[in-house]
Amino acid sequence: MPAHFDLVVIGGGSGGLACAQRAAEHGAKVAVIEPQPLGGTCVNAGCVPKKVMYYAASLAEGIRDAAGYGFEVALDGHDWHALKRARDAYVHRLNAIYAANLERRGIAHLKAMARFDDARTVVAGDEVLTAPQVVIATGGRPGVPDVPGADYGITSDGFFGLERRPATIAIVGSGYVAVELAGIFAALGTKVTLVIRHERVLPPCRRSCAASANTTSCGRPTGASSGRSSASCGPSAANRWSRAWS
Ligand SMILES: Cc1cc2nc3c(=O)[nH]c(=O)nc-3n(C[C@H](O)[C@H](O)[C@H](O)COP(=O)(O)OP(=O)(O)OC[C@H]3O[C@@H](n4cnc5c(N)ncnc54)[C@H](O)[C@@H]3O)c2cc1C
Repeated sequence: MPAHFDLVVIGGGSGGLACAQRAAEHGAKVAVIEPQPLGGTCVNAGCVPKKVMYYAASLAEGIRDAAGYGFEVALDGHDWHALKRARDAYVHRLNAIYAANLERRGIAHLKAMARFDDARTVVAGDEVLTAPQVVIATGGRPGVPDVPGADYGITSDGFFGLERRPATIAIVGSGYVAVELAGIFAALGTKVTLVIRHERVLPPCRRSCAASANTTSCGRPTGASSGRSSASCGPSAANRWSRAWS
C-alpha cells in the first residue's frame, strides 16, 4: 500500500530541504528522500567545509603577516589531519541538526535512492510513495574531462577526503571552485599549479571580480600566457571570490 503525501522531494540538499520545510510550514504532508547525510553538496562537500578550509587559510596568512603589525608569533607547522577531523565533526553536527529540523516539522525522511514508477509514484528502497507534486532536487556532480589519465585525479569531493596536505598539486580548471581551492592549498603551504585554458581565471564571473582574482596577493598578475598560473602568493584571489560568492 503506497504512503500518500502532498509533496515528495527527491534530494536532501539546500534546494530540497528548503522546499520541503517551507511546504511543511504551510501545512503540507511532506517526504524527503535522501540516501546520503542530509544537507547535500553545500553541507557535506561544498560551501560549509570549504569555508572551514578558507578560514584556516586566512589564519595562516594572518599569522604570516602578524610580525609586520608588531606581533611576536611564528607559524610553526600545520596539522591538516587535525583540521579535517574537526571539520568532519562540525559537518556531522550539521547533518544531525538538519535531521532534527525535518523531524520537528513532521517531515518523513527516507534514506534511499529514489526512482519514478510513474509521474505521481516514487519508489525509495522498499517504500512506495504517491503525491500530486514531486520535486526533483538532485543537484549536480563534478564534471571530469574525458582525457587519458583523468581517473588519476580527484574532484572537489576528493579534496574534502584528503587526510594529508599534498606538497604539490595541479588543479585543472578556472572556475570558482578551482580558484578557491588553489588559494586554500597555497596558503597552507602546497605548491600549486593552476592549469587553465582561457586567458584568465573565473571566465563567467563579473569583470571586476575576475580582474581582482587575476592579480595575486603580491600585486602582480598571475600570468597565464602559458596556460599555467602559479598560485604561490596566498589565498587572496580565492578569498576575494569567496567573499563575493558567500
Ligand atoms: C567545492 C564547492 C564549494 C561551493 N561553495 C559554495 C559557496 O561558497 N556558496 C554557495 O552558495 N554555493 C557553493 N557551492 C554550490 C552549492 O554547494 C550548490 O549550489 C548547492 O549545494 C546545490 O544544492 P542542491 O540542493 O541543488 O543540490 P545538492 O546539494 O547537490 O543536493 C542534491 C542531493 O540529491 C541527492 N540525490 C541525488 N540523486 C538522488 C536520488 N535519485 N534519490 C534521492 N536523492 C538523490 C544527493 O545525494 C544530494 O544530497 C559550492 C559547491 C562546491 C562543489
